[in-house]
Amino acid sequence: MTGLACRAAEPAHADGARSSLREGWFGRSLEVGIALDRPVPFRVFTLDGPPRLVLDFAGLDWAGFDPRDIRRDGGEAAIRVGRIGPDWSRLVLDLTGPQALVTAEMQPDGPGARLRVTLRRTSPEAFAAASGAPPGVWPSGGLPSPAVQGTGAVLVAIDPGHGGIDPGAIRDGAEEKDLVLAFGLALRDALAGRGFRVMMTRDGDDFVALADRVALARQAGADVFLSLHVNAESTPAVAGAIAFTRADRGSSPGAAARARVENAADGLAGLDPGDPVGAVLAGVARIETDARSGVLADALVDALRPVATVWAEPRQAANFEVLRAPDMPSVLLELGFLSSPADLAALTSPDWRRGTADALAAGLQGWLAQDAALAAKLRR
Ligand SMILES: [Zn+2]
Repeated sequence: MTGLACRAAEPAHADGARSSLREGWFGRSLEVGIALDRPVPFRVFTLDGPPRLVLDFAGLDWAGFDPRDIRRDGGEAAIRVGRIGPDWSRLVLDLTGPQALVTAEMQPDGPGARLRVTLRRTSPEAFAAASGAPPGVWPSGGLPSPAVQGTGAVLVAIDPGHGGIDPGAIRDGAEEKDLVLAFGLALRDALAGRGFRVMMTRDGDDFVALADRVALARQAGADVFLSLHVNAESTPAVAGAIAFTRADRGSSPGAAARARVENAADGLAGLDPGDPVGAVLAGVARIETDARSGVLADALVDALRPVATVWAEPRQAANFEVLRAPDMPSVLLELGFLSSPADLAALTSPDWRRGTADALAAGLQGWLAQDAALAAKLRR
């Protein structure tokens, strides 16, 4: 028997029913207790705008932990949990106001442990001054370069939206982060099969900050950036795919609202919004890249029509954070609506994924011939 020594230690787990949240009168104080089956390294900090409490645990798996099980004594605060990297898991709690950290300690609790955190109301100014992620907290830059698959001159970056602590849209147990990852993997294979090189900004259930997604693609020298998402609406009748390109102002109120939802991912995961990528570089390159992105989005919509439902106005533009690279044609595809039973059935079907991914790969191939910059690269 070999390899036992190399096997990673079993992850620790948290117990929602034995965890607690107690809010003092009118939010004067807050006490959070997270029950664990053993002590693990942790870090605690607050973030402002809006006020949030962030608890990070090393070597913890949230499987089996449901924030709805937490015993609450007052307090309506929303809680989200998920993975934020290979080693760290995060809990984010939306504070109802400025509440400063007073104590945070890991205490023995029966056979396990309990992280007990207390906070006390403070002024907005004091809260702002005390808040912020400590150095070294994700995202720290220097992300590992993702694997590049396939051969060929043109490198496509596939960006499955959300992941880890950020599930994206959720309906009836289906989560956007899982659907777009499954589709992204199918698209990777389809593109590699048609002579593209392909990289993914994530190929597992990991949280990747919006700016890091673009940074990873640019570091790898990607020629095209394709972000994958799924929509959700209040009515089941709305269905179909939409291709978005970047614009400072939304092409419709709906498009602008969609960009706000997708751009909120970093805040959901407890990150402060970073600097917009390449804002300084925008200029001549931007105008040309926007035009190329537009032609690409048209090609992708045309490719989708025979194999997938396409929304009535499938070409939209809005100010999406991940479409800001000034030098890389970028399109954000909303593949369908989780809220539409027909779209959901398609999105969860491996056959649909394969067929649609191949149609998109063919669409990209057709676009290459039209795109002067890449056509020249192919001739070299
Ligand atoms: Zn999304």
